[in-house]
Amino acid sequence: MSQELYFKETVETASQDEIIARQNELLKEKVRYVMANNAYMRDLYKRAGVVAEDFRGIEDVEKLPIIAKANFRETYPLGMCCVPKSSIREMHMSSGTSGTPVVMPYTIADLEQWADCMARCYRMAGAKPGDPVQIMPSFGLFNGGFGMYHGARAAELFVIPTGSGNTERQIRLARDFNTRVFTAVISYTTRIIEVMEKMGVELPNLEIGIFGAETVTTAMCEKIRSRLGIDVFNIYGMTETGGVGTLGMDCCDHSGIHVWEDQYYLEVVDPITKKVLPDGQEGELVVTSLTREALPVIRFKTGDLTRILSREKCACGRTHVKIDLISGRTDDMLIVKGVNFFPSQVEQALLEIPGVHSEYQIIMEEHNGVTDVRILVEAEEGVTGYMVEKRLKERLGFSPKGDVLPVGSLPRVDGKAVRVIKKKI
Ligand code: ADP
Ligand code: ZN
Repeated sequence: MSQELYFKETVETASQDEIIARQNELLKEKVRYVMANNAYMRDLYKRAGVVAEDFRGIEDVEKLPIIAKANFRETYPLGMCCVPKSSIREMHMSSGTSGTPVVMPYTIADLEQWADCMARCYRMAGAKPGDPVQIMPSFGLFNGGFGMYHGARAAELFVIPTGSGNTERQIRLARDFNTRVFTAVISYTTRIIEVMEKMGVELPNLEIGIFGAETVTTAMCEKIRSRLGIDVFNIYGMTETGGVGTLGMDCCDHSGIHVWEDQYYLEVVDPITKKVLPDGQEGELVVTSLTREALPVIRFKTGDLTRILSREKCACGRTHVKIDLISGRTDDMLIVKGVNFFPSQVEQALLEIPGVHSEYQIIMEEHNGVTDVRILVEAEEGVTGYMVEKRLKERLGFSPKGDVLPVGSLPRVDGKAVRVIKKKI
């Protein structure tokens, strides 16, 4: 494996023993750190009977209470911050997909840590110094644009900071500057493909797509990969861990998302009992930031569902754990007539039907306590509502109504796609 594909080769290929020893030390240190520097966390831990001096690291991790978005909300805006305001250099806020946005403050060291994680992702995707990278998530409170930017600086790329929207201009710039790397919220790629087709142009220099921010099915990745003729990478991160790319991305082997374990400690827990699950079993991801300074989360319940796939050395040479693509968010789960399902399962089933395009919406209509589901999907002529209903019945076990619409009918958004619409009638 060429060295150019690593940003920090010794760290990315360290043995699991080395990684675990480091995690253990950092975890002990972080528990002491938050108790010493934050009154809210100190109270929370004291009430749970945690004594910093007695905490032995990974073997005691389950003694620490799990925190969630609710703790951020309770302490809005900076009640969980461990540094004085004068040390904060930047802040970001979650997109608020599931309620009140979460605030994440950054010190200089935190910005460097973010850039380091992101730069590893760029190299892992094959981006080399000087490569033109077009950054298409928005630059603002949402962490996507700035995270891609900080990382691109560290990875010595040529930054084209277009931000979101104005798709025709995005395509023109990509042609004028021979963009090799695209970064975007994954559902935005559909828009790019549509506009490219309308303009009648291709992007022959584009080779790498780094997409994330939302659940994505392998069917969707495959569609993008074959249509644009590029390698597609799935990048993962969230406001609470410090933004896009902090957790990791899949490598060229596409056999799971490598999580930067020297920076984060992972657990997969049962969403109800909160007990840690064995490798291979799907549950909710719980994350601990081992190196962040302003607001290191310890045992943060992400709401994201996944499982540990492998702790073996990967074909790419990296040793960091691999997790499965996020299959859904606990707060995304839909229940209809006793059947539980996630929007991503609907997407996977729809994309199996030839002629179906990537835009769809799940309309949940509640009437006198009974919920009916309508699936609106864009497709080419020849695809019928019956075909949609039959496929979803086979795959998900219930019968929504299928409405097939001409391509371009559903609204396009620049940020995260809105897939579920709940109505009371
Ligand atoms: P929110 O969407 O909760 O308002 P953020 O803007 O911080 O907050 O987005 C982080 C969330 O986005 C993650 O917890 C996860 O649910 C989702 N996400 C980010 N990257 C991916 C990815 N590659 N695959 C699936 N989901 C992702
Ligand atoms: Zn790998």
